[in-house]
Amino acid sequence: MIETNVGPFTPERRMLIDGKLVEAASGKLFDNINPATEEVLGSVADAGHEDMAQAIAAARRAFDETDWATDHAFRRRCLEQLQVALESDREQMRAELVAEAGTPVAVTMLQLDSPLEDALRWPAEHIEQFPWERQLPDGNLFGVASKRKVVKEPQGVVGAIIPWNYPFEVTANKLGPILATGNTVVVKPAPDTPWNATRLGRLIAEHTDIPAGVVNIVPSSDHLVGEALTLDPRVDLISFTGSTVTGKRIMEKGAATLKRVFLELGGKSAMIVCDDADLAQVLPAAGGVCYHAGQGCAVQSRVLLPRSRYAEGVEILKAVMENIPYGDPTDPATMQGPQVSAKQRDRVMSYIRKGIDEGAELIVGGGRPSHLDKGFFVEPTLFVDVDNSMTIAQEEIFGPVLAVIPYDDDEDAIRIANDSSYGLSGGVFSASPERAMAIAHRIRTGSISVNGGMWYGADGPYGGYKTSGIGRQNGVEGFETYLETKLVGYIG
Ligand code: NAD
Repeated sequence: MIETNVGPFTPERRMLIDGKLVEAASGKLFDNINPATEEVLGSVADAGHEDMAQAIAAARRAFDETDWATDHAFRRRCLEQLQVALESDREQMRAELVAEAGTPVAVTMLQLDSPLEDALRWPAEHIEQFPWERQLPDGNLFGVASKRKVVKEPQGVVGAIIPWNYPFEVTANKLGPILATGNTVVVKPAPDTPWNATRLGRLIAEHTDIPAGVVNIVPSSDHLVGEALTLDPRVDLISFTGSTVTGKRIMEKGAATLKRVFLELGGKSAMIVCDDADLAQVLPAAGGVCYHAGQGCAVQSRVLLPRSRYAEGVEILKAVMENIPYGDPTDPATMQGPQVSAKQRDRVMSYIRKGIDEGAELIVGGGRPSHLDKGFFVEPTLFVDVDNSMTIAQEEIFGPVLAVIPYDDDEDAIRIANDSSYGLSGGVFSASPERAMAIAHRIRTGSISVNGGMWYGADGPYGGYKTSGIGRQNGVEGFETYLETKLVGYIG
């Protein structure tokens, strides 16, 4: 039992392989670090290649040799059991996520409560509504009168590779549709945030009828153990959320066995503020770049301000960034906690140096907070007079760093927003809903918010254009991500 300011929790250090909670074959463990205190919280089994091979074999067997893939009612029941088990652990999970991910307790609403609401429930309910088969018009090719139908079937074994920023949210939104559609899965959590996943393994083993091998949870400190999923011919699909660099590598490694891939990758989303917008009302939303220390793929890290109101906008943004509540993630008032690791903190700091070197003007933050002597914190940071070609406007920083870019007119704003290798998300604000919507339709991203509208939900297909990804999670499109299509011609 670990005591924290948010509550006590009992972590699980064993992984789940073939229905059993087990240590690594090597007996190795690795440390789980609290990013807010830099203290070792405890340890977790450190899977090696042997453990991963067993997990893949178990998932393959469960898919090929049980009726998991075909028994819809049983799958729904199992997902409902898992939902109940997760809800009973909700407060322990909250304390654990605050401790291992540095998620501010206020951010656990998105990290935990929101996926607990619908990430399993929506796909479980969709099992009954989904058209698993559809009839096509009869055919008569070569004079053979035939009936024809299209059948949807699970892909098979899925390798689910999870990032550390929203680990439970991502895992739940993968697991729901993966299991609802009848696949089996090997989940590989990020080394920085293993316990939310091993807890899931414990709940599955102890509180559900999910058959052995259907879900395997394999934490490892070695990225290459996860990479084995991309190389193994027994794995049919990789579902990955994380950086674009790793996403490209996964495609490359998976090419040899023609892996199906779902990739949800990085972003450099723009918030366009039109010249008719009420700046005092809309610009506080730009402080969202600090939410969970900017460690979110869809954060709007570029703000596009009209030149005609640039000075006014910058003044407001300065006040917003100077007043971000940051620090102790266990404090309910905190919006920005630490970066997840020293490596990530150093990465963010190196981007800040690049911003200065390339000539952007730093007007808020830019350093490590002097009043926090422990923890991987970075100050809320504001750059103005940023040119969109600068590194801080082009690359995903994954930190509390906002870049303000001036523009001339709507056409210019659209051009700048789209001048990015990424295409994940964004926002448009205007006093005219029609003008904002017209701009939103011209932004090349997989999601967009108009005048602060929220798009997120288990029923909403989410993913990226361009290098922000391939495929969609959630919604009907996300359900179909995990399905194959079989065309049957038949007589009789
Ligand atoms: P990463 O993409 O390398 O890690 C994410 C997951 O991929 C982890 O589980 C990791 O173990 C696994 N992984 C790493 N290399 C792998 C490989 N070769 N084969 C299979 N799995 C592999 O991210 P990172 O290095 O932890 O973070 C670096 C940057 O990535 C961040 O600063 C941020 O810009 C970006 N990132 C983006 C997201 C997102 O949701 N868009 C999430 C996490 C990180």
